[in-house]
Amino acid sequence: MDLTFTEREQAFREELREWFARNDPGQEPESDEDLHFKWRRDFQARLAADGLAAVHWPPEYGGRGASVTESAIFFEELGRSGAPLPANVLGLLLAGPTIMLWGSDRQKERYLAPILSGEEIWCQGFSEPDAGSDLASLKTRAVKEGGEWVISGQKVWTSGAQYSKWCMLVARSDPSAPKHRGLTYFLMDMEQDGVQVRPLRQITGSPEFNELFIDGARVPAENVLGGEGNGWKVALTTLMNERAGLAFFLQVRLRQLLDRLIAQAAASGAIEQPLVAARLGELQMRAEILRLTAYRGLTATEKYGQPGPEGSLTKWMWSQTNQELTQFAVDLIGPEALAEGNPWAYELLRARGNSIEGGTTEVLKNIVAERVLGLPKSR
Ligand SMILES: Cc1cc2nc3c(=O)[nH]c(=O)nc-3n(C[C@H](O)[C@H](O)[C@H](O)COP(=O)(O)OP(=O)(O)OC[C@H]3O[C@@H](n4cnc5c(N)ncnc54)[C@H](O)[C@@H]3O)c2cc1C
Repeated sequence: MDLTFTEREQAFREELREWFARNDPGQEPESDEDLHFKWRRDFQARLAADGLAAVHWPPEYGGRGASVTESAIFFEELGRSGAPLPANVLGLLLAGPTIMLWGSDRQKERYLAPILSGEEIWCQGFSEPDAGSDLASLKTRAVKEGGEWVISGQKVWTSGAQYSKWCMLVARSDPSAPKHRGLTYFLMDMEQDGVQVRPLRQITGSPEFNELFIDGARVPAENVLGGEGNGWKVALTTLMNERAGLAFFLQVRLRQLLDRLIAQAAASGAIEQPLVAARLGELQMRAEILRLTAYRGLTATEKYGQPGPEGSLTKWMWSQTNQELTQFAVDLIGPEALAEGNPWAYELLRARGNSIEGGTTEVLKNIVAERVLGLPKSR
């Protein structure tokens, strides 16, 4: 891709810089998870009001139809301003693009606008206690009864379920079919008695994800996405968008953390030590490689309409770099980095999950080996 900016792109950057200068997100609430979520949700509503919540979405769905370069500029300016990433991240990156590809006109009209504004938060009900990497072995059952489906089973690690109105749910609708074929993708309303959300507290102390106990939940037939029995293909669209999108989104967060660490090392004078400077330089280089590789992934999305398996590479690179960065920050700052309330303690502990969420590093390596490099299958 050509990385020199056109006049139009420069004007877009100016517009954004002005917008972020006018829209100060205020102080980040650090200790209270609900307040933190509200802070991000409110800021997303402000972005959406000015058509900036998902600039890469097509204009007919409320985006700006931004090109790859314009999307990159958006994320750079967001990162630069210190503004929070939108609260409805799974809606914007996963549910929205999946509905755009597989949804009926009615579904697009019903679901896309509240995703953008953050009015309706989405979660992803894929993983189960015995189905993570091998997602197609999931057991949650969907049985048709008249004009609706009755769902029962258990999901786990469901991020943000406690705030969610809707769930992207994959369930087994035909137990007699081969495991990849008997699945259906549902848009499930979380606000019903048949869905119980039980928070799971992570090593960070925050309950960011949950168990979902689903017992006779009702889903109208019109809330099937992409057709009965087609759930595996629809789920793959979500997963491809997850890996490519998250890597792009999260490299902004990585940039913010690295800038913070460099500023702290400069303020303390540690940056004068050659070993520290070399390590920071290496992380700087990795962050830059990640940014450019994420752009390349977006270029592929623009060209072919959908993200390809290359997103697995960026997701893997991002998790590794983020874990190294947060570990180095704690080594550099010393024990005070782990004191209660110090944001680095949270970042270090939260980064442990990076190489598991959205596909484990081992599984992503398999995908890169087989589907990007064309190496023989491992199994
Ligand atoms: C922070 C966080 C947030 C999450 N949010 C969500 C969410 O919102 N919604 C959701 O549905 N899920 C979510 N997950 C779940 C996540 O997708 C799963 O944890 C992940 O897919 C791995 O599944 P598993 O935990 O069952 O591990 P397993 O699949 O049991 O894997 C165990 C180990 O075996 C390895 N392994 C498995 N298969 C292979 C293979 N073929 N080749 C080589 N090694 C292999 C894995 O790499 C891993 O090390 C989240 C996870 C985390 C950590």
